[in-house]
Parts: sequence; structure tokens; C-alpha cells
Amino acid sequence: MGIIRSLDEHLANQIAAGEVVERPASVLKELIENAVDAGASRIDVSAEEGGLHMLRVADNGSGIQPDDLLLAFQRHATSKISTGKDLFQIATLGFRGEALPSIAAVAKVKCVSSTDDGGLGQLLEIEGGAVKANRETNAPKGTEMIVKDLFYNTPARLKYMKTIQTELGHLSDIVYRQALARPDIAFTFSHNGNLLLRTPGNGELRQVVAAIYGTSSAKAMIELKDENPDYALHGLTAMPTETRANRNALTFLVNGRYIRSQALMQPVMQAYHTLLPLHRFPLAVLDLRMHPSLVDVNVHPAKLEVRFSKENELRAFVESAVKKAVSSEAYIPSGAATR
Ligand code: ADP
Ligand code: MG
Repeated sequence: MGIIRSLDEHLANQIAAGEVVERPASVLKELIENAVDAGASRIDVSAEEGGLHMLRVADNGSGIQPDDLLLAFQRHATSKISTGKDLFQIATLGFRGEALPSIAAVAKVKCVSSTDDGGLGQLLEIEGGAVKANRETNAPKGTEMIVKDLFYNTPARLKYMKTIQTELGHLSDIVYRQALARPDIAFTFSHNGNLLLRTPGNGELRQVVAAIYGTSSAKAMIELKDENPDYALHGLTAMPTETRANRNALTFLVNGRYIRSQALMQPVMQAYHTLLPLHRFPLAVLDLRMHPSLVDVNVHPAKLEVRFSKENELRAFVESAVKKAVSSEAYIPSGAATR
């Protein structure tokens, strides 16, 4: 008799959760991405105790059909791709079908969703992978996800959580990046009942920057726009006076997805070159568009890193686009004009 056997689904989900759900912010990222993919124009986020006690994301997107709701929480169940070919032209933020089952394996999840304006929807409750309720309920169109007591059944992971303040910092970071990625979506974010962010959702990136970094920073940014046959770049980048001590000041978006990328960071820094003081980073939001076949997003479980197929060309394009924008602003040190 052999000794190898397939793991049962619950155990498989718990193992996957170890990869996908690192901390409350990873849950929040997945839930917001789902709301964006559902075509929402409003996304309301709230959290309690750094998200460890409670995270809630409510959207006015497409909703989930009653018959699909339980399926949405099954492993590798997704409405976003269906063939291998799809994997090379991903147009949605999600595609792995792993987030909901992973989250539900390590928390207490309540989901209410409705696909029409008739006021009727479906409610599903899952705790640690076990279904507690699945019934009809009253609900507006869209989806509400409430995730409570994250890691309640995985104490080893819970032990590694940092202070409420640190977890809140990570949550804010996720909301900020998503809000910057989608100025056309109205976001709110509150923590322990305090409203921390509200964006207008009118498509104006500068207004989102103002809501996050302050009005004066938003004013001191240069609009950037450039394209070639492969790439289009638009966004806002700081005048060399508007710098930060931290590389987090740079937000890179690729086809609407927030990513971390050395391949994009380096050409931007190169473009500013001697204009920046040592160890300072420009505040910038750079939204890069390219054919999905030019970027592989399936290289990281949280989809935070990507691989570009023509990286050298891309670097050169980004450097030249940022250079043009920054040099077009005649940089006059304050006081110089009065001398
Ligand atoms: P993925 O996003 O990779 O498809 P998820 O586990 O995050 O996988 O979600 C599974 C499925 O549940 C999605 O493909 C989608 O059909 C549905 N879904 C999840 N969240 C929402 C939402 N907020 N609105 C509409 N549908 C949703
Ligand atoms: Mg998803």
C-alpha cells in the first residue's frame, strides 16, 4: 500500500491561505480587487482593530448570482478565465480563483450579494471553511463581504501580527493604491468608526492624490502623457521639490493593477537623476498600459510582481517619458525670481 494521498479540500485551502493571506491587508487587497472586477463605481471599506477583528468591503458592482455564491468560495472557481489562452491576456485583477476559499479557511466570512435591483439577494456564512448559512435575504445590488476574526483558527499566524497601528498602515496602503489606480471609483475608508479617506470618483487623478497626500502636494505635480506603439503612460509626477524619504511615494500601475517593480523604479529615478536630493524619492502615480501579452501577471501569489516581456524597451520608454515631463517644467528655486 502506498502512503501518498490527496489532501482534502479544507486542508488544501488552509495551505493556500498561508500564501495568499499573509495579514489583514492581503484580505483587503483581494476583496477590493473583486469589487473592482465586478465593475463597481462605489467601494466602501471599513476595518476594526487593524482589520484583525473585522474587515468590510461593500460594492455596487454586478453581484454574484444566488446559485454561484457557494461556488465562489470553492478552490480554483472563477468567472474570469476559462482556458489556458486566457492566462496570457488577463484583463481582470483576479483570475486565480483562490482568494475567497483561502480567506474563508482562516476567518469567519459573511457575504451578502445581489445581481438585480429587485431587493432580493443571497446570504452566505462560512467559518473556517464550514458553511453555516446559505439563504435568501434582502439586499441591494452589489456585494458586501464581512471578514471577522482573521486567523482565529491558525494561532501560529495570529501570533505574527504586528500592532494595530502597523496593520492599519498596511490597510491604508492598499486602499490608497487602489484609489489611485481607479479615480473613476468613489472610495471611502474608515477605521474604528473614523473616516480616513473619501475620493470623489469623478475620474480626476489629481483629486485622489489631494485626498491622500494633501492639496499642496497634488498641486505640485506635473502631468505626464506619452505613448509609443507598445506602451502608453499617463499620470502625475512630482516636481523635484516635492520629494519623500520613502520609495512608497511611487505608485506603479500596469493595466490598472498596482505592482512593485524595480524595472519601473529605476528608470524613473534615472529620469530625475541629479535633480533629486540623495535618498529622496519623487511622489508619482504612473499608469502604464500595454497589451496583456506583454506582461505576465501570473508570477506572484498576491500578484504584486509582474514580468515584462520587453523590459529594456519599457525601461527606455519610461525614462524618456518622465524626463520629458520633468524637464518641461522650468524649475525655478523659490526666491530666485526676486533676486
Ligand atoms: P478570482 O477573483 O480570482 O476569480 P476569487 O476567489 O477572488 O477569485 O472570487 C471568486 C469569484 O467570485 C470571482 O471570479 C467572481 O465571479 C465572484 N466574486 C467575488 N467577489 C465578487 C464581488 N465583489 N462582486 C461580484 N462577484 C464577485
Ligand atoms: Mg479575486
